[in-house]
Amino acid sequence: MDKNKINLLLVDDEEEFLKSMSTRLEVRDFNVIAVNRGEAALEAARNNPVDIALVDLKMPGIDGEETLKALKKEHEWMEVVILTGHGSVDSAVECTKSGAYLYLQKPCELEQLLDVLKDAYKKRIMNRKNIEEKKMNELLKISQSSSPRDILRRLKEIDNG
Ligand SMILES: [Mg+2]
Repeated sequence: MDKNKINLLLVDDEEEFLKSMSTRLEVRDFNVIAVNRGEAALEAARNNPVDIALVDLKMPGIDGEETLKALKKEHEWMEVVILTGHGSVDSAVECTKSGAYLYLQKPCELEQLLDVLKDAYKKRIMNRKNIEEKKMNELLKISQSSSPRDILRRLKEIDNG
């Protein structure tokens, strides 16, 4: 993987869309991991660094909304953009309540998508900074009077969290 590229997880059950969108995003400086199911998306996110996930709403198996929730739960700083077809805007709106950065209606213009991905990536950078800052504050607050073992345990929690 190229370290100078944004890591994007693309999830869509339409194979043609998956292929063409992967190609288009890869030439525009994204490392793309493309999968066709929510289950596979969760697995891929556990095994690869992912900055942004672009997730289709309607898929067999766990749908886009469930995938979104699981991704946000497991990867605090990741941003998720939902792709939706006609007629599913209501559920897409629900997704923004569940933590999606934004939803886009398919078919969407590539330029519009790039614009959204750029902003989502900015947010992703801020998320990580905020989380790191929170951890630093917790580190400073660890009481010196605690036992070394308690401190070690707490440090590990902060590092994992
Ligand atoms: Mg679909």
